Amino acid sequence: MSEEPRLPVGVAIIGGGPAGLSAGLQLVRANRRIAIIDSNRPRHSATLQSHGFLTRDGASPLELRRLGREEFEAYPTATFAQAVVREVVPLTRDEAIGAGFPDGIGFRVRGTGIRGSSDVEFVARRVLISAGLTEELPPFPMIRAYYGTALHSCVECDGFEKTDKPLALIGETSDVFARALLISRFSSDLVVFTNGADTVRPEQERQLAEIGISVERRPIDDIVGEKAEMTGVRLADGSVIPRVGGFVRPRWHAPVEFLGDQPIERDEWGLIVVSDRGETSIRGVYAVGDIVPPGPQQLIIAAGGGARVAARLNMDMIRGALGVGMIDD
Ligand SMILES: Cc1cc2nc3c(=O)[nH]c(=O)nc-3n(C[C@H](O)[C@H](O)[C@H](O)COP(=O)(O)OP(=O)(O)OC[C@H]3O[C@@H](n4cnc5c(N)ncnc54)[C@H](O)[C@@H]3O)c2cc1C
Repeated sequence: MSEEPRLPVGVAIIGGGPAGLSAGLQLVRANRRIAIIDSNRPRHSATLQSHGFLTRDGASPLELRRLGREEFEAYPTATFAQAVVREVVPLTRDEAIGAGFPDGIGFRVRGTGIRGSSDVEFVARRVLISAGLTEELPPFPMIRAYYGTALHSCVECDGFEKTDKPLALIGETSDVFARALLISRFSSDLVVFTNGADTVRPEQERQLAEIGISVERRPIDDIVGEKAEMTGVRLADGSVIPRVGGFVRPRWHAPVEFLGDQPIERDEWGLIVVSDRGETSIRGVYAVGDIVPPGPQQLIIAAGGGARVAARLNMDMIRGALGVGMIDD
């Protein structure tokens, strides 16, 4: 089912997590007509409590999203659509001018409705991608059962609760050493599992050994536990190393398939590269939140980034209307 195109919007925001909601709030307060399109698959859906968001420490991440959406939707120029964006197509200059966009830049954004909502189509002067990251956990059968409770990915978010416990760090990427150092602030009873990957260099292993952290290079078979409690990491040779929880470094994917074959610059991890203004390598398309480096990937950083990029987007559109470009930015 497809809807009639609505009134053109200033910004179509793809993703209604803390980054998108925060940008949306600032932009409706700047008297802009704004659409947030959200597929309701937040990264932290595996967890019941979020930490470190000032005034909301310990709150449920779903509650944070609910409050954010409520505040955004209280403004008359706000639209929140439950849909998966499938396509972002640049308008021609004539189409953009025809839509009332004075600088000739614009986009058509189409999405498929979810949970009984209609399909959506927005014509927008600018696009803000705040779609977060999708995570690929290592393929151990039971890892999902402990992810978000015993095993986490964000050390800044969940390290405190793990103080002095026997911990695992599971990771096959080159940032595992730095993560191990970060975790050592919470517990020195730490085993780094590389699952057979050659990602911790011998001199790094020596440095870790000096602070009591060992590196286990044998492949992992699974995470083991009793009921909801994680009790260890079982290796492929059958031995079990007792651990009550810890951290895993998932592989991340920036979900921007809706751009089709429009090239967009990424960094070595696949995250979307943006300028100081928050604009991607596609003119008029901005990005914010977990999907852009450098992190840390936290709710408050995503929300702060959203407010910052909103100010830049607003100024970009003011200058675009006056024909003065971004020269003084
Ligand atoms: C298990 C876990 C626990 C965490 N705990 C904490 C914590 O305690 N404290 C903390 O500060 N941080 C925590 N984090 C990190 C925090 O969740 C992220 O930093 C934060 O959610 C990033 O916000 P975001 O707005 O960039 O992305 P997200 O919150 O992931 O939101 C992105 C939104 O975009 C939507 N989307 C994606 N693609 C499309 C599309 N094509 N069309 C429409 N919508 C789309 C998704 O459905 C989602 O709703 C945790 C993360 C995980 C994985």
